[in-house]
Amino acid sequence: MTCRGSPDVSTQDSIKLLDLIGLHEPIRDELMNAIEKVVDGGSYALGEEVEAFESELVEYTGAHHAVGCGSGSDALLLALQAANVGAGDEVICPAYSFFATAGAIARLGASPVFVDIEPDSLNLNPDLVQRTVGECQRLRALLPVDIFGRIASMKSLTDLGAEIGIPVIEDAAQALGARDEDQKAAGTRGQMGCISFYPTKNLGAMGEGGVILTSDAETASRLRALRSHGQTHPNHFSELGINSRLDALQAAILRVKLRRLPEWLAAREEVAASYDRLFSQAGALSSDRNLYEAEIPVLYPARPTEPARSAHHQYTIRVAPELREALRLRLTFHGIETGVYYPMGLHEQPALSKLGRCPLPLPETETATRQVLSLPCHPGVNESARERVAQTIVDEIKALSAN
Ligand SMILES: *Cc1c(COP(=O)(O)O)cnc(C)c1O
Repeated sequence: MTCRGSPDVSTQDSIKLLDLIGLHEPIRDELMNAIEKVVDGGSYALGEEVEAFESELVEYTGAHHAVGCGSGSDALLLALQAANVGAGDEVICPAYSFFATAGAIARLGASPVFVDIEPDSLNLNPDLVQRTVGECQRLRALLPVDIFGRIASMKSLTDLGAEIGIPVIEDAAQALGARDEDQKAAGTRGQMGCISFYPTKNLGAMGEGGVILTSDAETASRLRALRSHGQTHPNHFSELGINSRLDALQAAILRVKLRRLPEWLAAREEVAASYDRLFSQAGALSSDRNLYEAEIPVLYPARPTEPARSAHHQYTIRVAPELREALRLRLTFHGIETGVYYPMGLHEQPALSKLGRCPLPLPETETATRQVLSLPCHPGVNESARERVAQTIVDEIKALSAN
């Protein structure tokens, strides 16, 4: 007799955190045609496809300029350099983000100054930023992140930036398609906005890619030079840049996928709304952050106030820290994939512990890193999968809390 794994996994389809093959299947012909066009066109780095994609992004976001580059990480690096951030400078960013946010600051020889997040949005807390500014000697930029596709509150940050004469750079790597309450697009609300096309992002390439959005023509042309070693005219390099051009192949693929993005975002919105409804019907806690007072201690994400719109890059619940690993194992057993973004604050990462600093304590970051659990929230999660995910979580948490 052969062992065929756990019964749940072999009898039910697994629900993945992300299903890129499923996403691409209905547009396979369009993708192959676009790829063929590039193969036959003979222009492979920057060029026509990249320019066309940049224009389409300008139209989609309302930014005035889009400068394609090699990755979201490079977009951050280039934007910070264009903001004149250099050795010995300081940049404020949240302690709760993907590594690249602070990595880009440190790469330029500057120090990330970590500030805590708001518990509901998991985004940078503007009041704490205000308090931290006075602690900084060489502050050159503010770098808020639209975490999980949910737009960060920006108004007080841009006001503060204007008051002290430093730019706000928006790390919108996870948030293309999100809108704030004035319908301004993620990535267009600071002096520059950085977007990633890493394959797992809402608009993903089949490789690496990124873009910087800006409304300032001078900044845009400086960024265009910086992505090509700082070249301003043929064989004339006015400052030290990097090699970070967007590939024509990636641009061609991204153009096909950009046309589907509104539909995919609407599908993500539906998945998130279903989870909200299912958890609420099951009596899972919705607003009290003291997870121990609820019968079913699940805290699902608070929604931004309408008409602001999240891009739902992740649907992230909170569960009691001592249950999280056990719950994940149970969900894996039931064929449900989950993710922990992020298990550590950036201030706790060994690579950054000496390069960054935290003038104030980071209790919300530290609580979030111990509680968060991201659920499958992509366009392929159908109604029955949503029910299975929510029901399994509620049942397993009840069972685990009873022990
Ligand atoms: C993905 C991501 C990046 C980096 O983008 P890459 O394209 O992977 O280099 C930067 N910041 C955040 C918040 C991200 O999620």
